[in-house]
Amino acid sequence: MKEPLFGKSLESIGEVVKDLGLPPYAAAQMAHRLYRGHIREIAEMTGLSLAARAALAERYHIGIDAPRKETVSSDGTKKYLFGIHIPPPAEDSFRYVEAAYIPEEDRSTLCLSTQVGCKMGCLFCMTGKQGFQGQLSAGEILNQYESLPERDSVTNIVYMGMGEPFDNLEAVLRSLEALTADWGYGMSPRRITVSTIGIVPAMKRFLTESSCRLAVSLHSPFEEERRRLMPVEHVYPIREVLDVIRGSDLPKRRRVSFEYIVFGGINHSPAHAKELARLLQGIKARINLIRFHAIPGTPLVPATNAEMEEFRDRLSAKGLRTTIRRSRGEDILAACGLLSTKELVKAQASDF
Ligand code: SF4
Repeated sequence: MKEPLFGKSLESIGEVVKDLGLPPYAAAQMAHRLYRGHIREIAEMTGLSLAARAALAERYHIGIDAPRKETVSSDGTKKYLFGIHIPPPAEDSFRYVEAAYIPEEDRSTLCLSTQVGCKMGCLFCMTGKQGFQGQLSAGEILNQYESLPERDSVTNIVYMGMGEPFDNLEAVLRSLEALTADWGYGMSPRRITVSTIGIVPAMKRFLTESSCRLAVSLHSPFEEERRRLMPVEHVYPIREVLDVIRGSDLPKRRRVSFEYIVFGGINHSPAHAKELARLLQGIKARINLIRFHAIPGTPLVPATNAEMEEFRDRLSAKGLRTTIRRSRGEDILAACGLLSTKELVKAQASDF
């Protein structure tokens, strides 16, 4: 089987170049063609001799894979499904991961997936209900950007799709490097946000090795309640996560934001606002309130608009910069994991 070149770092491309007996400067040329050149075939590696291209093509292919399905919401949000082959020994099967393209007046955001399914088991998440099926490679993460039909209009990237990015740290760090490095796409790290439920050791590495932005899923300031919503609280309590952020010497422009899904009748009381303000003391935080997309099989319901506005006002009155994020793509199941779960169920049903 040929190995994909797409997703490799400059250093790894350097090893390929060395193996082929090419001059070291060929690595930078190849990386440039691969990322900013948007090539699809090794024959397009201009800069390499025909003999070098032939030698390369014997062992490698580019490895870009276009989305298999596309759904468009009435508000312009698009959801793409990408096919992922999960190799043995774990399985030998085919699954989907999702990417969402969200155009707005002043920006266009791409939301990427990092894993097939997820093992974190958050109560409110459809991806969690799929269970964990596999890790995406750096190339498979980057492919969601490279082969997106709207790629050239993307201004911001968020790692908030399927999977917990810090449970696939190596591939995530490699993909961030390719997005931001001069030899890669050269995007500003300020335009890229990685969202985590708070896997502390991986988060520490991310904060020292990448300058991209961080978003932490908070969802409740109370330990017991957060444990019920997010089992990760048993292992990495939010207090520990916040202590790491407080202790990190982050430059001013490297903002940390907190995602807070508002569940009707659960986590938007005055006591929640008071405890959140206490918990976030000493952190220049921005809180994004997110409307819950109802999913089957949970008792959770969305808060009303009035409840969300009231909660925002309470937090703002306590000095916390709080915004309500617009809900996008509800008619195409844009909530994390819903569309691919539907495909998985369809595929399983057709097995019978
Ligand atoms: Fe995994 Fe994120 Fe879903 Fe939790 S919310 S189960 S971490 S994908």
